[in-house]
Amino acid sequence: MEDIYCQQIIPGILKVEVIFETEQVLAFYHTQPYWEHHAVIVPKTHIESLSSYSNNDALNRDFFEAIKVVTKLFEENYGGCRISSNVGDYQTSKHLHWYVHHGQRIVDKD
Ligand SMILES: [Zn+2]
Repeated sequence: MEDIYCQQIIPGILKVEVIFETEQVLAFYHTQPYWEHHAVIVPKTHIESLSSYSNNDALNRDFFEAIKVVTKLFEENYGGCRISSNVGDYQTSKHLHWYVHHGQRIVDKD
């Protein structure tokens, strides 16, 4: 199964523009954005999706810190944003990820 996050982005093989990072999470600009402005937030350990997420205080804290930092950046720069996470058949990559985005859809895929 292709997992670009575990295989390339988290180990640093595929270089990304990092917005925010802790030991637990990584937030960065999507390398092939679907919207005009598109960021991704992922856990650094493999978790399939929100439906298989086990409560983890350290990860919860870092997720919400990353969400705050990225959404604040988008709000300040573009006026607002949307945050979403796909589950199950909606996921092209089976590694939990949040999308933060603003603007027009520029690529027609999941
Ligand atoms: Zn993974």
